[in-house]
Amino acid sequence: MNSVSAHFSLEEVTHSQTAARLGIDNDLPMELMQNVKKAALGMELVRLALNSNMCIVSSWYRCQELNAAVGSKNTSAHTTGFAIDFTCPTAGTPEQIVRALIKSSVPFQQVIYEFGTWVHISFNGEARQALVIDHLGTREFA
Ligand SMILES: [Zn+2]
Repeated sequence: MNSVSAHFSLEEVTHSQTAARLGIDNDLPMELMQNVKKAALGMELVRLALNSNMCIVSSWYRCQELNAAVGSKNTSAHTTGFAIDFTCPTAGTPEQIVRALIKSSVPFQQVIYEFGTWVHISFNGEARQALVIDHLGTREFA
């Protein structure tokens, strides 16, 4: 198993049910490996902040074709390997996790509570922006 950090594998970075279903090649280009490794170190800090050994990645790297297939905008940090969608059931609901991450010192660019179902986090900067995205649109997380 190729790993990108102590607890995350390359398989978790590139795996996508949508890519598998549509036959999209979602292999990681080597030039994005350093982005992925930076994001993986961020995820290691998320594990520590949440005191959890079970962060389940639902989407990490997405090539442009896959990103378009899931209806995401083409500037998404997923396309550069910097963003991760995840849940962490042992640490609470996605909303509780967003709250915990805001209180933590995890150096994220953006954390988003998405559709009441998962947490999106990105590490391409340290703006520490917190948002909600759902069927009503995008707004500050409050
Ligand atoms: Zn995302």
